[in-house]
Amino acid sequence: MLTNWRIISVTIIISVITMSCTQKKKADLIIANAKIYSVDNDFAIHQSMAIENGQIVGIGSDNEIQAQFNAQETTDLQGKPVYPGFIDPHSHFLGYGLGLSQAWLAGASSWNEVVERLIDHHSQFQTDWVIGRGWNQNEWDVKEFPTKELLDKAFPNNPVLLTRIDGHAAIANTKALQMASFSPDTTIAGGQLVAKNGELTGVLIDNAINLVRDIIPPQTKQEKQEALLLAQQNCFAVGLTSVNDAGLNKEDVLIIDEMQKQGKLQMKVNVMLNPTEDNYEHFLNNGVYVTPSLTVRTVKLFADGALGSRGALLLEPYSDDQSTKGLQLETTEKLTEVCQKAFDAGYQVATHCIGDAAVRLMLDMYEPFLTPQNDLRWRIEHAQTVHPNDLNRFGQLAVVPSVQTTHATSDMFWAANRLGERIKTAYIFNDLLKQNGWLPNGSDFPIEHINPLYGFYAGVVRKNLSGNPPEGFQMENALSREKALRAMTIWAAKAAFEEDVKGSLEVGKAADFVVLATDIMTAQEPELPNIQVERTYVNGKIVYLDHKQ
Ligand SMILES: [Zn+2]
Repeated sequence: MLTNWRIISVTIIISVITMSCTQKKKADLIIANAKIYSVDNDFAIHQSMAIENGQIVGIGSDNEIQAQFNAQETTDLQGKPVYPGFIDPHSHFLGYGLGLSQAWLAGASSWNEVVERLIDHHSQFQTDWVIGRGWNQNEWDVKEFPTKELLDKAFPNNPVLLTRIDGHAAIANTKALQMASFSPDTTIAGGQLVAKNGELTGVLIDNAINLVRDIIPPQTKQEKQEALLLAQQNCFAVGLTSVNDAGLNKEDVLIIDEMQKQGKLQMKVNVMLNPTEDNYEHFLNNGVYVTPSLTVRTVKLFADGALGSRGALLLEPYSDDQSTKGLQLETTEKLTEVCQKAFDAGYQVATHCIGDAAVRLMLDMYEPFLTPQNDLRWRIEHAQTVHPNDLNRFGQLAVVPSVQTTHATSDMFWAANRLGERIKTAYIFNDLLKQNGWLPNGSDFPIEHINPLYGFYAGVVRKNLSGNPPEGFQMENALSREKALRAMTIWAAKAAFEEDVKGSLEVGKAADFVVLATDIMTAQEPELPNIQVERTYVNGKIVYLDHKQ
């Protein structure tokens, strides 16, 4: 395989123009001898496509394309499968990138190792604040809370904050404690500063952590630019060519727009705006904003929290805690006000809803705005638990359930504790798909892994990466492979009104595509999550090439 790939890309300089060539159309690139899943309406498979100026200008058999086009370059893919570039319809692209500059500290076997890993990480990223998370003293040889001396030695001049795996404890160094004006006498409501022999050890509990977080300066523009480039690099390597970023502020959108216009950021981004005055003023008041790489036409809302922490809003109490039904995160007035604003501006609304009460709340709220046969594509993000009485309302109101199949396989072993019998109404992706005949499937990374093939696998097989449960989880809601592929390509594009320009490989659309080592439509189930991306193209240009090939 090594030798083949080297000779595949052949640049043909046309030195002799024959009569027949003059009939042919010009192309920058022909992809030949491939198995191209167009993901068009008929799910047609082709051998070859021609690309000119970043767009697909022809698709068909090798003979057809050869007969019609003269290309500067022809790439013979030797039968490899090609798909439309993958689209993640719900991710936190910038947040993921920013998180990459924080050290991940789980799995260390001692406090010493944690500090060594941190020094290593900092030599790479060189941030002023040294931030890490994931340490767990229960994994160490000495299973005790650490103290700050090693941190002070390693980082005398940089403030350090390392959060424990559960987020409820952290350790700070002396520099950070000084900046927070903490002393052994400081008392904090809802929090604690751990002290030994009258000295702070650096360990902080609950609200004490927040007081340190509050003094960490927001990331600079340059840090955000670097984060976006890192995120892009990793996303291209898993075949993503477009992402929706679920919740950004004006200044971040402007950075993305600027980097795309400078050609530095090739990742295509669909932005969901946070409901802030700044965003209303700059974006909503001026209507929808669309460039070839950026779409801004959505407002993101939160109706409730997460199921794990019992923050998801349920109609009936939690099965494992009768005292609570979860939390509504915004007042009904505020949510209604934002829906009205978005409607007036011609924007979509996309609301995070995990619990069945949150789903009902938002369907009720959306309803007055959504006439029958509307094409506003207002979205419910996650739509994780849906009361049976509400299911058909997705179809009636044409509300888009924007789901994450990996959430099912991450939650399936504990979600039934929270939900009891209601688990049967949760992660019902196939039932939701039937409502409008389509749905987008994303990852919500960095909550889940960025790899869209994990979502494909979870949607089709409904098992975790270790292959459990062996019979699959609530298999009546598994997706067919074709539907799972549509959900991460054309339907993901549709959820953002982008199906005319991307999401399938058809004439007139962007030449965003991915070449895999093995065909996901025919591979054995256990193979699916491990299939390698060999090449990723955006607008007909290679943005990722697997060098092992
Ligand atoms: Zn999210």
